Amino acid sequence: MIQPRKWPILTEEEKKDEQKIKVVAARMRDKHPQDIIRWGIEQLGVSSLALACSFGCEDIALLDMALKVNPDLDIFYLDTDLHFKETYEVRDRLSGKYQKQFIRVSPDLTLEEQAVKYGEKLWKKDPNLCCNLRKVEPLKKYLRNYQGWITGIRREQAPTRAHAEVVEWDQGFQLIKLNPLAFWNSKQVWNYIFKNQLPYNPLHDHRYPSIGCEPCTRPVLPGEDPRAGRWSGTDKIECGLHNSPVS
Ligand code: SF4
Repeated sequence: MIQPRKWPILTEEEKKDEQKIKVVAARMRDKHPQDIIRWGIEQLGVSSLALACSFGCEDIALLDMALKVNPDLDIFYLDTDLHFKETYEVRDRLSGKYQKQFIRVSPDLTLEEQAVKYGEKLWKKDPNLCCNLRKVEPLKKYLRNYQGWITGIRREQAPTRAHAEVVEWDQGFQLIKLNPLAFWNSKQVWNYIFKNQLPYNPLHDHRYPSIGCEPCTRPVLPGEDPRAGRWSGTDKIECGLHNSPVS
């Protein structure tokens, strides 16, 4: 008896076909995030896929799911040199828990070199340029080695993410993007973290629902949007990683 196919399968050509990927995304929507990761690994091969980890709550849940599927999956983080000390501490705790080195992706310029070239505290003067230098460009370079990446974005996080699919063609970086948590809410993420007793950034307990670089993140006030603490006082709401940057 022929077994029904468990997953939609993409041919090599279809992996770059936005329309085909949309069809697959519609079929994958109701799958558990861990199954979406499993599908990605089966489709692309474990060495062609990498998980982006900012060590925020979503990424920690994903990291746990992913390493349970395949402990060899590459986990990377963008080290802007400007993270909170708590972020580096949770990175080290997770690294110890999973006995795994996370790949550090760093900008071309040190903070000192950036200050010489563009002025002190560029994040205050031009946060888009700062994010571009310290996050987008390093990511673009790093992802050249892969056919797909996994992110922790969720639809309810921001209007810019409201149409995220669990599988997408990433036009800016030119590869497949998996957003396994696209349809999860914050409660589901935290339930997963507590149920699996995962370490997490203690700043989440101090009114930091979303944690980025220290100079650009503040705690949110009661009733404020969870991402109100990011780039507060500017109209910036994304660092540029999730809005299809064009090379
Ligand atoms: S979040 Fe702020 S400090 Fe970090 S790269 Fe962007 S602008 Fe620079």
